[in-house]
Amino acid sequence: MSPVSSSTQPSGGSHGLHLQDACYNPGVARVLMVSSEAAPLAKTGGLADVVGSLPSALRSFGDEVAVLIPRYGSIELKGARRVYDKLAIYLGAVRYDASIYQAAEEYPVYLLDCPPLYDRKGFYGEAGLDYPDNHIRFAVFARAAFTVARSLFATEIFHCHDWQTGLVPAYLRTASAIDPTFLGVKTLFTIHNLGYQGLFPKSAVADVALDPGVFRPDGMEFYGRLSYLKGGIAFADFLNTVSPAYAREIQTPELGFGLDGALRARADVLTGILNGVDYREWNPETDPLIPANYSAGDLSGKQVCKRSLIEEFGLAPEAMGRPLIGIVSRFAHQKGADLIGEVAGQIVAEDTSLVALGTGDAEYEDMFRRVAAEFPGRVAVRIGFDNGLAHRIEAGADLFLMPSRYEPSGLNQIYSLRYGTVPVVRATGGLDDTIEEDTGFKFAEYSGQALLGAVRAAVGAFSDGEAWRRMMRLGMGKDFSWKASAAAYSALYGRLLGRA
Ligand code: ADP
Repeated sequence: MSPVSSSTQPSGGSHGLHLQDACYNPGVARVLMVSSEAAPLAKTGGLADVVGSLPSALRSFGDEVAVLIPRYGSIELKGARRVYDKLAIYLGAVRYDASIYQAAEEYPVYLLDCPPLYDRKGFYGEAGLDYPDNHIRFAVFARAAFTVARSLFATEIFHCHDWQTGLVPAYLRTASAIDPTFLGVKTLFTIHNLGYQGLFPKSAVADVALDPGVFRPDGMEFYGRLSYLKGGIAFADFLNTVSPAYAREIQTPELGFGLDGALRARADVLTGILNGVDYREWNPETDPLIPANYSAGDLSGKQVCKRSLIEEFGLAPEAMGRPLIGIVSRFAHQKGADLIGEVAGQIVAEDTSLVALGTGDAEYEDMFRRVAAEFPGRVAVRIGFDNGLAHRIEAGADLFLMPSRYEPSGLNQIYSLRYGTVPVVRATGGLDDTIEEDTGFKFAEYSGQALLGAVRAAVGAFSDGEAWRRMMRLGMGKDFSWKASAAAYSALYGRLLGRA
């Protein structure tokens, strides 16, 4: 193993190195974020937005942060420099040859390069099927985090995100526990979505050289399978999820996905910290991806955005006078697409138009295509992942629909507030935490009729232009920037290190 020497990075050593590090500051944490996504390099959803924007917010509190993600096929290495060459990672007797690159960012972003594992079309799978070796891919990834901590970025806290990183605390507290490098190192495990658990056959325990003792219900076993998510839940020093409401909900049988007991067992170290958003990227006053900029003080640009969106989606020109409903979503069971399918005709009958952007389960993609075909000129859908179009929908729509079955935090409703696009949401998780009666429309029961009731209320309100603009402006003035949330993370780091 050989770290490529670099004048700006420590080049090997042990935990003692941290304490002698010239930049060491006792009030400040050195945190390695380990994540399978980070915007803008790799994104399928909100996780990427969080890991892409939280580090710079933390830096303003003095914390020193680095990020590790896999180098997927879609990530260009141009501009990145190789900082660790010929890294051999062993899972049992099987060896994986990797190297680590550092992207040119304001803080270290490390890319684990191991082409046989990550240089593929998808992050987690293709054509709706998970890669069969995902357990190996994210075990090698977890091991690489230890190399980064040992040799590239003296780490005090591994901040791990979602099931893909559950093996970091699991390895740390079991097989690697004797490695003195990590004796005082802490782990924080953030659950962005309990619905994705990283479940593998029991044989994965041996494949990834885990301590067989973890395979028990109060460890990583989940009804006969190995759960990477439980690795995080059982072995991390502290847990959090991405909104206070979701932190409560996941401890109930209704939204606990079978893990509510495991989570309740760790309730003393489980908290909820609402996601912040990056207003440098999501701000109608400066957004370069929308046809016209606008602000709460001058909303005229929003009409330009609406007109342009109507044209882009090929809706009838009369849509300009109707409330235009926007949707940007992963098309998944979680997001409540079935409710939209159930009452789409009645929503349109309220004299609305609807545009949707999303990708995901074939069932929901087909449903949206069917509804669009049934109401040409009124409903239009784009299947795919298109960041520019996501911004144009936020800017051009009047209403934003998020009827989620559950929602850990949700970012789109927060973006919508800033874009003056009034959210209509189901009152669950982060949606309930962020939308108030005077900034949006909420419904409680998970049913098409309840959704329709909220849409009707919104359409009614839309007809009173002056009151509507007041509501838009109120939402636009809300501040969900990282400031408060990053302060909460920073305080949590301090607590973990016994400094708070
Ligand atoms: P989740 O993480 O559950 O998908 P969030 O609302 O927290 O939901 O975050 C979704 C993020 O992904 C937002 O930034 C949203 O704009 C983006 N997004 C989701 N689907 C698409 C898509 N099809 N095209 C572009 N961006 C998308």
